[in-house]
Amino acid sequence: MNAESLAETIALAESARDGDNPAEALARAEAIWRRVAPDDAPTRRRAGLLLLDRRYRTGAWAAFVELTLELLPQFRAEGPRTELVDLLRQLSIAASDTGRYEVALTAGQEAHRIAVEIDDIGRISLATNALGCAFERTGDPWQGERLLVEALAVARTQDQSHPLFVALNNLVAVRIGQFHLRRDAQPLDEAREPLHQTLPLAEEAVALARASGEALRKLLAIGNLGEVLVGLGDIVNAAPALDEAEALARGGYAAHLTRIGCSQADLALARGDAAGARERLQALLAGADNEHLNTRLRLRHALWRSASALDCPADALAHLEAYLRLERQRSMAQMHAQSELFVTRVEAEQMRLEARRHHARARELEADTRRDELTGLGNRRELELRWPQLVEQARCGGGRLAVAMIDLDHFKRVNDCHGHGVGDRVLMAMAALLRAHTRAADLVARVGGEEFLLVLPDADTERAREICERLRIAVQGHDWEALAPGLGVTLSAGLTCGVPADAESLTRRADEALYLAKSQGRNRVVAI
Ligand code: GH3
Ligand code: MG
Ligand code: MG
Repeated sequence: MNAESLAETIALAESARDGDNPAEALARAEAIWRRVAPDDAPTRRRAGLLLLDRRYRTGAWAAFVELTLELLPQFRAEGPRTELVDLLRQLSIAASDTGRYEVALTAGQEAHRIAVEIDDIGRISLATNALGCAFERTGDPWQGERLLVEALAVARTQDQSHPLFVALNNLVAVRIGQFHLRRDAQPLDEAREPLHQTLPLAEEAVALARASGEALRKLLAIGNLGEVLVGLGDIVNAAPALDEAEALARGGYAAHLTRIGCSQADLALARGDAAGARERLQALLAGADNEHLNTRLRLRHALWRSASALDCPADALAHLEAYLRLERQRSMAQMHAQSELFVTRVEAEQMRLEARRHHARARELEADTRRDELTGLGNRRELELRWPQLVEQARCGGGRLAVAMIDLDHFKRVNDCHGHGVGDRVLMAMAALLRAHTRAADLVARVGGEEFLLVLPDADTERAREICERLRIAVQGHDWEALAPGLGVTLSAGLTCGVPADAESLTRRADEALYLAKSQGRNRVVAI
């Protein structure tokens, strides 16, 4: 096969999206990879990324780790870039899942360092998250949770849905893990606490996954939600969630079937159908040799409980012994990793603090983009972002809201006669007057040079007119002479009230009313 047709084949494979058969897509990517010449670096890079993506999606973790380690030098040579961060982050997750804890921790740390270097807040969240997962898997779920909570806080400062989804999903998974750890050791009520805490997050992740339309995301989020609901004993809602997740897993994500199968068995047990649970689990056990240690542990635990419920003590004991053997195996691997981890733990704490600083800074940056620098009022972006919330408030208070557009009269003359500095101070004083005449729930935004927009969520025309009229009188009567001798300021306002559709149609009407106020002589309020 010549180079050109290989490139075409890769392009074709790249364009095949989620929802095609993922197992087939993996096989195609594997076949392409075998054809790539070892010295053809660009093609190797492209085909390698394609194959990594397919392996990651189908949960072929061990093979993913191998190939990533092979390709990393090439990506490192390209310098600090987003792709390198993504690769390291995924390496960290996959290595955690295959018990290669040291790889997981060092990759998570390197991902974090580079994300900070390129100042990519979304990826800082993702790297912090990967590290949190690595700590959880090495037997320190507390440090893990702290990192994951921080990653979620950082993700929430961003508009991107990917870091937010990953942050939610992994935090939910870790809390489910805490429940499994606690339920043998504590009263059920107490063991369920992490699940109660995490239910709203699980629901939020499902909403994001559904909005994305991606099968793998839906599978992960809905599977987690089902598991949370089973743990909480909410059989009615757990059943459809688990069925949906199982159907999605059957669409080519077989790696997730065992875990979902365990949850289905838990559900059957909760329903009192121990025989059904056992049958399901035994079928899963037959193919579980290649499963992750955690999954095998869950499987044995569920088998032990179903055999006990069926009153088969010999069978129950055999599963319990198998469970304990696996447990010992896991603690040995964890202890080994932990003995190497003393320094890493200190580093993780530093990283968490750094993530917190990023979180604070990101929040400030985000607040800055919504504020007008001169007056501190909201700007157009603030209006866009708050509009849905204002509409919701209006819906509670009768379904209408009032919008007023306010423009200072002959402001050019203020600048011309008294200078731009005085003009600026007038605008700042206006902002203070606007704040004084509105309530916290109202929105006041500076939408132009000397134009302000008021949104009053539970006001009708009369009430809005009253507020604007009082503001007009206050502005007219304000002691402007204190700013500059001879200075006087008035405003014109146009207002309208209606059922909130989009922000634009109401502000357009308010603009028309403002135009009337100006043409009728200024210093007045006109409503239409
Ligand atoms: P009208 O009554 O028709 O509104 O007359 P006007 O002079 O206010 O007209 P217009 O709205 O066109 O002019 C707005 C002026 O506001 C123009 C500009 O010089 C001034 N301006 C806009 N932004 C700022 C600012 O940040 N500071 C100062 N000092 N002036 C500004
Ligand atoms: Mg004006
Ligand atoms: Mg104007």
